[in-house]
Amino acid sequence: MRALILSDIHANLEALTAVLDAARFDVLWNLGDVVGYGASPNQVVDLIRPKSQLTVRGNHDRVCSGLTSALGFNPIARAAAHWTHDELTPDNLGWIKRLPQGPIEAPEAGVTCAHGSPLNEDQYILNMRDAWAPLQQMPTNITFFGHTHIQGGFSQQGHDWHELRPQLPRNNEAASWSMAIADGSRHLINPGSVGQPRDYDWRAAFAIYDTEAREITFHRIPYDITASQGRILMAGLPERLAARLTEGR
Ligand code: ZN
Repeated sequence: MRALILSDIHANLEALTAVLDAARFDVLWNLGDVVGYGASPNQVVDLIRPKSQLTVRGNHDRVCSGLTSALGFNPIARAAAHWTHDELTPDNLGWIKRLPQGPIEAPEAGVTCAHGSPLNEDQYILNMRDAWAPLQQMPTNITFFGHTHIQGGFSQQGHDWHELRPQLPRNNEAASWSMAIADGSRHLINPGSVGQPRDYDWRAAFAIYDTEAREITFHRIPYDITASQGRILMAGLPERLAARLTEGR
């Protein structure tokens, strides 16, 4: 089975479309932050909703749907959250409101899906210090997470542990990098952000987990970034949300 793992789409329709066109997959697991920041919340929900076998909510899904206050957000994120709340159709707003909190185990795959840390949905896993407790405590050997918008992760096998950095060429082409899952190894894997990468690479990020081959492949794919930026500007969203897509941060 090939599982497509997506995170942090953030209402970027052009990025999501490019990913869905490029990826070959049997099931889709979505790690949350479907909306917020980008200008196409309804189009993105309409596209992803019927294709996902599993979706966990992200902090932006929670705030944009009104489940929790936007007061903890910076002014730009807060403005986008209010805009998104007003823009979403009642049906799509209801779907986002009902998204379950992670961590959730993917059926028959022996992996866990979460938005932030599987021990705390709002916590960022940025380094081995953050990754250590979940690496020791999770019941499954693989946990997929998002929230940081940084592709990669953290691995441990016995006494050996290290940060994972996909070895991808930095250019404007599609690229991929695969790693084998060794028996007894444990991993926290971030597929990267589809719609607002923050690892200084503007290309949309995703990952494929091939459960038979025991292999995870990280992908980057170019998309029509100008169209996405145009929608943000035309919607009256903060200009910074368009500019940061080019910077990949
Ligand atoms: Zn996010």
